[in-house]
Amino acid sequence: MPFGARVVRGIVVNLSASSPVQDTRDVIELISPQVMVTPERMDLALWIAAYYLSPLFDAIALMLPPGFGNKKPLKAKYVKYLALNSGASQAGGRGKAGTGRGVKQMEVLRFLEDTGGRLPLSQVLSRVNCGSSVIRALLLKKLVVLEDEEVFRDPLARQDFALEFPLQFTAEQQQAWQPVEEAIREVPDKRKHASFLLHGVTGSGKTEIYLAALAETIKQGKRGICLVPEIALTQQITERFFARFPGRVAVIHSRLSAGEQYDGWRRISRGEFDVVVGPRSAIFAPQPDLGLIIVDEEHEWAYKQSDKMPRYHARDVAIRLAELSGAVLLLGTATPDVGTYYGAVSNRLQLIELNERVSARGNLPLPEVTLVNMSDELKAGNRSIFSRLLREQVRLSLEREEQVMLYINRRGLATFIECGNCGYVFSCRRCSGTLTYHAAVKRMVCHHCRRTQAAALKCPDCASLDIKYLGIGTETVEAECRRLFKSARIMRFDSDAVSTAKRYVKQIGMFRKREVDIMIGTQLIAKGLDFPGVSLVGVINADTGLNLPDFRSAERTFQLLCQVAGRAGRAYVPGQALIQSFNPGYYAIKYAARHDYPGFYKQEIKYRAAFGYPPYNSIIRLIVSNLSEEKCSRQARLMANVLKQQIAVQGLAGLRLIGPAPAYLSRLRGRYQMQIIILGQQLQGLLKDIHFPAGWIVDVDPVGML
Ligand code: ADP
Ligand code: ZN
Ligand code: ZN
Repeated sequence: MPFGARVVRGIVVNLSASSPVQDTRDVIELISPQVMVTPERMDLALWIAAYYLSPLFDAIALMLPPGFGNKKPLKAKYVKYLALNSGASQAGGRGKAGTGRGVKQMEVLRFLEDTGGRLPLSQVLSRVNCGSSVIRALLLKKLVVLEDEEVFRDPLARQDFALEFPLQFTAEQQQAWQPVEEAIREVPDKRKHASFLLHGVTGSGKTEIYLAALAETIKQGKRGICLVPEIALTQQITERFFARFPGRVAVIHSRLSAGEQYDGWRRISRGEFDVVVGPRSAIFAPQPDLGLIIVDEEHEWAYKQSDKMPRYHARDVAIRLAELSGAVLLLGTATPDVGTYYGAVSNRLQLIELNERVSARGNLPLPEVTLVNMSDELKAGNRSIFSRLLREQVRLSLEREEQVMLYINRRGLATFIECGNCGYVFSCRRCSGTLTYHAAVKRMVCHHCRRTQAAALKCPDCASLDIKYLGIGTETVEAECRRLFKSARIMRFDSDAVSTAKRYVKQIGMFRKREVDIMIGTQLIAKGLDFPGVSLVGVINADTGLNLPDFRSAERTFQLLCQVAGRAGRAYVPGQALIQSFNPGYYAIKYAARHDYPGFYKQEIKYRAAFGYPPYNSIIRLIVSNLSEEKCSRQARLMANVLKQQIAVQGLAGLRLIGPAPAYLSRLRGRYQMQIIILGQQLQGLLKDIHFPAGWIVDVDPVGML
């Protein structure tokens, strides 16, 4: 529709007999005559816009076919190469060979040739890094054609999955299943509590309950959505859905091309799938007759969209959608989010528990966890990153030909580089963070902006050659393992070593086939992976996350330690986990070692209550960034004043405003960052009419404070 001099896209939310403006203009054209958003999803969008303080258009765009909100064409264009054998030389010959344009045309053709001859236009433009004029030139020469994506290419069609049948529930599973089954059978408007928190230790059979819940939902003529934190890390659960519901599972993920995503969306909306599995955006899949929403690993931070508007949390959106649609909600995890567990304790969710591990060979014990006090090691003169016990246990595991996993949540060889003479610390020129030395690339790397620079040979301040490489990361542990366990086959598994999906799959496969004895990794190895050969898991340093200025640091540490320890002893051999720490008495570490979630929760919730942190209050985090430090702090001060005035005008008592203060990273990619934290109830009322100029980020319920 015309809007001033511009033509813009609009979404019809409802119709009105009168207009707030005098001169109305006509709609030029309908993009789609169909109703694209059901009333229920429209309500959801309204809620998202109001709750997460985002523009309504952005919220509704979440519910539309992929590409709509981006203002891109709804159908992806594909570039197809016509003259497969002679084209590349022709483009060079007819074009101005050697000049920029001719070279680019050749590059496009070569790229198409190398990749099978037909690719989405957007992909060609970005991979060859050229403008559309290059494609236009090739079109004129009749070397390529543009096609609409019509064929739905099922991204999973290439994989085969053996059909599987439901397992006979154990007594404990049966008990957990019963209320879920009843809720699914109940008519929605008669349901009392249709939201469940399924709290079950790793390997207790939660997935089996999800599968049964979906089967029952289908029986009732309804459909489901299953959210997983990240598709790559949860391949196993996806495969189990395929094996149980062959041909009835749609998978959504960002690696699909725009055309695949659009076709998938259309087929889902026609009701072609019993279940849609995917990461956070899958909650917006147009699944008709929604009867079940599963959120696996509900505590995962990946469910929060932190990098763009609307900054929604998919678990909380799922809770809202379940209310609006009457679907049964199933939140599953071994380590519930403290807020979610609080919801269960206060009866907003029904708590069901699984405390035993199951397997095809009967119950398995949880891994035995031993805490090692690293202060004692120092006292005994052991300065190695391996305690004597861990070293001995790794040796024994290797001797028995069992596999070992070692966890350290930092990458690189040295996470802190300083001058031994004057104490100068090497930090990034664009960020306020320190640099890490990576031996694999022999460079110093900033983990915040990824900028690298040559390893320092001398101090820029005092010219001393005494440069100290301190702090341990994955590469440090790898080097130490190679020194201590000479005959072991060792693999590093972090985002440096596993930079592509292909390598991820390959390395996982190697470890599973037992071609590797010791795997050293970051969070990447902590989640969702099931390796039957692992008998020992070692946590090199449990303390790294503890001193961060974030009220969730204890919860985060507890969750990670439980997840890591849970990797041991998943099948053939009993498992053991060893946690090294300088603070073994700290509650998050102590309770993790005992697999005691309620114990941890009891202490954590007291701390949250004492400081008025969530779940007792909500938090909104406001961040402003600017290239100029002075402008940044001025903008922050101005905003704080506006907020204080509003608080006074609206008479809002019991509201806390913290800051403005520099963010944890006071500078990122050259921009200074200041933040204001607001703590209290129903904070949206305070902020909804405040204008935030460019440079501001408004984050409702932030998952991290750093
Ligand atoms: P979780 O999702 O809690 O980690 P899973 O559902 O993956 O647990 O179950 C762990 C393992 O136990 C899987 O290999 C699964 O096939 C098996 N399992 C689950 N339930 C049963 C059962 N009732 N009988 C036999 N094996 C089971
Ligand atoms: Zn120096
Ligand atoms: Zn940087």
